[in-house]
Amino acid sequence: MLIPLSAVMGQTRAKNLLLSSSAKDKMSHAYLFKGPSGVGKKMLARAFAAFINCRAPQGREACGSCPSCKKFSSDNHPDLHIIEPQGMGIKIDQIRRLQKDLTYPPFEARTRVVILPDIHDTMRRPEVANSLLKTLEEPPPHTLLILTGDEAGSILPTILSRCQIVAFSPLTYQEVAGLLAPEVEPRQALTLAAVAEGSPGRALLLHQTGLLELRQGMIATLTRLDPNSPDAVGMVYDLAAQAADLKEKLHELLDLLATWLRDLTLLALEQQGQLINHDLADLLQQGRRAWRPEGLLAALDHIRQARRQLLRNCNRTLVCEVLFFALLREKW
Ligand SMILES: [Zn+2]
Repeated sequence: MLIPLSAVMGQTRAKNLLLSSSAKDKMSHAYLFKGPSGVGKKMLARAFAAFINCRAPQGREACGSCPSCKKFSSDNHPDLHIIEPQGMGIKIDQIRRLQKDLTYPPFEARTRVVILPDIHDTMRRPEVANSLLKTLEEPPPHTLLILTGDEAGSILPTILSRCQIVAFSPLTYQEVAGLLAPEVEPRQALTLAAVAEGSPGRALLLHQTGLLELRQGMIATLTRLDPNSPDAVGMVYDLAAQAADLKEKLHELLDLLATWLRDLTLLALEQQGQLINHDLADLLQQGRRAWRPEGLLAALDHIRQARRQLLRNCNRTLVCEVLFFALLREKW
């Protein structure tokens, strides 16, 4: 699919930087698009690849009808390489194959484009990252590398130092809600936008997977559950099973629980203005009375710990059980 640059909402600074460097013929050989997940980094990478190869660009857009645009439209351009992870991440063999491909000149493109998405996730193993360093340092002629990465994730410094960094920012809640309309009614769209912290991609994911409702149910249970009641153990096992069922989307739930605990912490500090979970006002008030203020920071630590365990491939159900018991322990 040919993605117009205008289809990427916001990100004016990133677009201007890229367009002006291409107009002046001063593009970097490697960019790292860095910012929150779901704000359009990969989309802009694809749109820019089409734009710089268009034979007859119209102002700030690719024409959509030249031979190059047609190949981008049909996802069939021989000089666009998107390196998607195989299994847990990008494999060294994939990088070697890419390097071999890059020893030949581009088939037809003015600028061959290699996109490596989500490297905070897909290139966590140093040996894989290291195998790419030489290509990042000295890419073959007529070749542009675009890496994308989450700012919250860890990106190896050796990669960072070899790329020009293009910063992406969250959108305003109104912009995100505008993108979700008319499918989502305005009030819920604003909640999704806030909970997704200005990321349209995350807002859409929360909407489509029902994660917003799941979060509400879990937060209600955790808030009302008396850790000393005879039902507590069974309830925790139920919650953990539901959470583990999310599989690779579990980290999204952990992000949501972290923003809820952050809101409770703000309430404990009496800073109401910046709450994210506006839709949970009643539950937040109950939660404020249910958790010890010093327990909230410990609870956030438990979430960080769970994230680390998941990265190490620990058993999801077990990680969730330990987490939910720990959250209950921090109550009064
Ligand atoms: Zn064109």
